[in-house]
Amino acid sequence: MKPKNKFQRKICELSKQLPPISEKQKYWAFKSFYEDYVVISRNRCFCLDCGHKWEEKPILSVKLCGVTCPACGQKLKFKERVNWREQTYFAIVTTKGDFQVIRMFLFSQFFKMKKASDFSISEVMQHWMDDKGNIESLMQRANSMSGVAIDQWTGGDLEPRTDTYTHRLRQEIGAWKVCPGRRVLPILRRNGFRGHFYGFSPQWLFTELLTSNRAETLLKTNQISILAHINSRGRDVGYYWKSINICNRNNYIVKDASMWFDYLDLLTYFGKDVRNPKFICPPNLRREHDILMNKKNRILEERRRVEDEKQKYREYLKNLKHQEEYKKEKAPFFSIKFKDNELSIMPLKSIDEFKREADVLHHCVFTNEYFTKKESLIMSAQIKGEPVETIEVSLKEFKVVQSRGKHNRASEHHDRILSLVRNNMEQIANVMAV
Ligand SMILES: [Zn+2]
Repeated sequence: MKPKNKFQRKICELSKQLPPISEKQKYWAFKSFYEDYVVISRNRCFCLDCGHKWEEKPILSVKLCGVTCPACGQKLKFKERVNWREQTYFAIVTTKGDFQVIRMFLFSQFFKMKKASDFSISEVMQHWMDDKGNIESLMQRANSMSGVAIDQWTGGDLEPRTDTYTHRLRQEIGAWKVCPGRRVLPILRRNGFRGHFYGFSPQWLFTELLTSNRAETLLKTNQISILAHINSRGRDVGYYWKSINICNRNNYIVKDASMWFDYLDLLTYFGKDVRNPKFICPPNLRREHDILMNKKNRILEERRRVEDEKQKYREYLKNLKHQEEYKKEKAPFFSIKFKDNELSIMPLKSIDEFKREADVLHHCVFTNEYFTKKESLIMSAQIKGEPVETIEVSLKEFKVVQSRGKHNRASEHHDRILSLVRNNMEQIANVMAV
């Protein structure tokens, strides 16, 4: 892609003036990343350095301690499985014009059984940053064939890339190591950079140092863990900034920022002073954190328990009310009973009976509060005291609306139940007529 604005044009121009990676830098990368491996196949060792294969006993010692190749004399590390290539990123940090430049290189080591492994180094990205932290990245094209792998580079020139999602992902690729001999803009030194990256990628750390006073303070005061959370817990960093300053005045380094912020939230919950070093600088953070966390959990549990009790009591009162109303409405039917040899059918007489009926037959006669249906009479068909079906009779039409057994299905006695109710429907009608 062609440079689109003045900033990009200037960078492309300056980029051409950067020297290629030096032999010394290549050697450093080789020493840092090139690995001599032994793999084991059918109890034989293969040297991936020279391709020699031989028998070695005991195999376990090779796996634990590695081995020296009898052919090439190289000390080899054991590897369970080696891909055809292993890749690592590293960075060269330098300056050009008024810019901070982070040159990203890909170190690839290739393997082939029975052959010495080989390696290559290629520059795949450059991050250019001005002294305000504005950043523009030049990149090689990525292999568009593999949508998943964002770091399958195709080679070719470094160019500005459109701001797509993968482009941003690739911008965030970190360097495993940074080549010695770093050159940085004076403003970065002024803002606290002392040559250490603490595992942050150079482009991330530099952007933060150039755009955020807080990042600058955190680096200068060695609060690296908080610095690492400056974005993911940005709200907390802002909210507890005064507490962080108090830690700094007391030479207290927060080692686990995420836990420390949680701990400060707990202190706040318990109304403790989060400006008091006695509370916010605990020698054993985990211990204090856990004490407060357990205390809070107990409070929440108690609150839930009380809430449960209240809920139960509310339900009890509701049932009581339903019970009274149900009795008032349906008591005149309670004496009704239809029987044949085996079956007996009678109205449900209480809310408890509705519940039992629902529990035995697994249907919703209780949950859906059928006892509140004024125009229905709910009856239970039973054999030896055990419910087999629940029947809903319409008190308007004197018809069976539904009759359901276990899991809402008809029982084997369904037809007999229906005819028994129909034959005795007059008894129900008579109660209504009174
Ligand atoms: Zn060898």
